[in-house]
Amino acid sequence: MALIVQKYGGTSVGSPERIMNVARKVMATKQAGNDVIVVVSAMSGETNRLIELSKQIDPNPDLREYDVLVATGEQVTIALLSMALNKLGCPARSYTGAQVRILTDSTYSKARILDIDEANVRADLQAGRVVVVAGFQGSDEQGNITTLGRGGSDTTGVALAAALKADECQIYTDVDGVYTTDPRVVPNARRLDRITFEEMLEMASLGSKVLQIRSVEFAGKYSVKLRVLSSFEEGPGTLITYEEQNMEQPLISGIAFNRDEAKITMLGVPDQPGVAYKILGPVGDANIEIDMIIQNVGADATTDFTFTVHRNDHQKALKILDKVAKELGARELNGDANIVKVSLVGVGMRSHAGVASTMFKTLAREGINIRMISTSEIKISVVVDEKYLELAVRALHDAFGLDKAPAA
Ligand code: ASP
Ligand code: MG
Repeated sequence: MALIVQKYGGTSVGSPERIMNVARKVMATKQAGNDVIVVVSAMSGETNRLIELSKQIDPNPDLREYDVLVATGEQVTIALLSMALNKLGCPARSYTGAQVRILTDSTYSKARILDIDEANVRADLQAGRVVVVAGFQGSDEQGNITTLGRGGSDTTGVALAAALKADECQIYTDVDGVYTTDPRVVPNARRLDRITFEEMLEMASLGSKVLQIRSVEFAGKYSVKLRVLSSFEEGPGTLITYEEQNMEQPLISGIAFNRDEAKITMLGVPDQPGVAYKILGPVGDANIEIDMIIQNVGADATTDFTFTVHRNDHQKALKILDKVAKELGARELNGDANIVKVSLVGVGMRSHAGVASTMFKTLAREGINIRMISTSEIKISVVVDEKYLELAVRALHDAFGLDKAPAA
C-alpha cells in the first residue's frame, strides 16, 4: 500500500462544487488502495481578503494576531472537505496545523517547520481514514498559531510527505504541470514531463510561481518525490526529481523571467577597498535584497557599480544611496525601474558550451540590448528593457527549440 500526500490549492477548493470534485478525486485515490493525506489551501481569494481586512485595522499589524487571522482560511476548507468526504462515504478527519502538531519556530508570518508529530495522522490512516490537514500553518513551542508565508501550503504538503515518508507528494493546482515558460507569453510552451529539483528551484526563484520555493528546497533535501498536476484535467503532470546520471539532459529546460526588478547604477566611485561594502552594506541593513551585482573595471581610479533590487524597494534603495553617493563623492546615481530579467535554466548547460553565445546571438538578431549579464552553473540571466520581455522570451524559446519534446 502506498502513502500519497495530495495538496490542493485555492482555486481547486474555490467553491462547494469544487470541494466535492476534490473529495471525489481523493476518494478515488483511496479506493485504489492508497493511504491518503490531503493538504488544502484556503478558498481562492480568501487569504487576500483576510490580509486586506487586517490592513484596514493596521497597515503593520501585530504579527501574532495577523497569523491568528490568516490561518482561518484553511480551517474552513479542511472542515468542508472532510464533510464532503464523509458524505461520500469515505471516512475523513480534519486537523489544523496546531492539532497535528506541526511545530514551527515563532517567526510569525513566515515561520519555519521544525518538527511534525505524526501520531494522530498515523492512527487515523491505520483506522482507514483520510487525513485532511490545513496548509500554511503550524504552532510554536508555546502553542501560538503561526503561518508559513504566502504559498506555504505547498511546504506543508512536502513536509508531511517527508515526515511520513510518503511515496509521492502530489501538488494539484490550476495548471497541468511545469512549463518550459509561461504559456501566456509563449503559446507553444510545452509541459515538462520532468525537471530536476535544482532547475525547479531556479525556475521558482526566478519568478515562475507554480510552487513555493521553500517546498522545493524541502523536497530536494528530504528526497520527496514531488509531482505537479491539474485538479481539473487528467494527466501525468510534471515530476520533480533528481538528475539521472544515465539520462541525456536537455540543454535548456526552461526560461524564467522576472518583471519585478529595478536597476541602480552609481557612476564614478573611488576604486578602493571597502567601496562595495559602503554601497551595498546600508542597502542590506535596510533589509533590501540585492540580486545581480556588477562592478566595472576601474579607470582613472574610479569605477562604476550596478545592481538590481525588487521594484518595490527601488525608491527606498535610491534614497539610501543618495546619501552614500554624496559621502563617496560619486559622479552620478541613477535608477531604472523599467527593466526585467530573463533567464535560461538547464542542468545540461554544465556539460555544453555555447549556450550563452546562442542566447546573445538570438537577442542581437532581435535588436534587444542586454544591460546586465550573470551566470551560474545551470543558469544564464540577462537584464533587458521591459518592453522587450515578450520578444526576448519568445525568440529564446524558439532558438532553443523548447516547443519540441527532447529526443528520447
Ligand atoms: N492560503 C495561503 C496563501 O494564499 C497559503 C497557500 O495557499 O499556499 O498564500
Ligand atoms: Mg500556491
